[in-house]
Amino acid sequence: MVRKKRVVLTFPHSLVDKPITYHLVKDYGLVFNILKARVTPREEGRLVLEIEGKRENLNKGIKFLKDLGIRIEPLAQDIRWIETRCTHCGACLAICPTQAFTVDQKTREVFFDKGKCIVCELCIKACPYRAMEIKF
Ligand code: SF4
Ligand code: SF4
Repeated sequence: MVRKKRVVLTFPHSLVDKPITYHLVKDYGLVFNILKARVTPREEGRLVLEIEGKRENLNKGIKFLKDLGIRIEPLAQDIRWIETRCTHCGACLAICPTQAFTVDQKTREVFFDKGKCIVCELCIKACPYRAMEIKF
């Protein structure tokens, strides 16, 4: 059965220029889509990936990454909507490229769907009330 996972990889500086994703394709037959990549000021590498493949290969690929010393977290754990801070102002709606925010047409309340978020961080700057937080 083919499965799809969205994960955040954090790896040390020593692995930043290693062909890690190449091995995922060649050795485990996984298909991936890089949603975001960056090197942090502490020189850790961060990749937000959507990985797709047979369940067994996916598990083997993830084990390969962990054995290299790479930290893997599900993407959904990476961003947080602090509902109590949200004033439903709507400033994030047009900014979000994946339509992760929706508005209830009756109440005008804004809701956040974590599953759609690709952690592009655009809403973090756009939200005047600091209701969106990144967990990096
Ligand atoms: S980080 Fe914010 S703007 Fe980017 S996809 Fe997620 S919810 Fe949308
Ligand atoms: S911009 Fe911030 S306060 Fe406004 S609706 Fe979006 S999350 Fe809520």
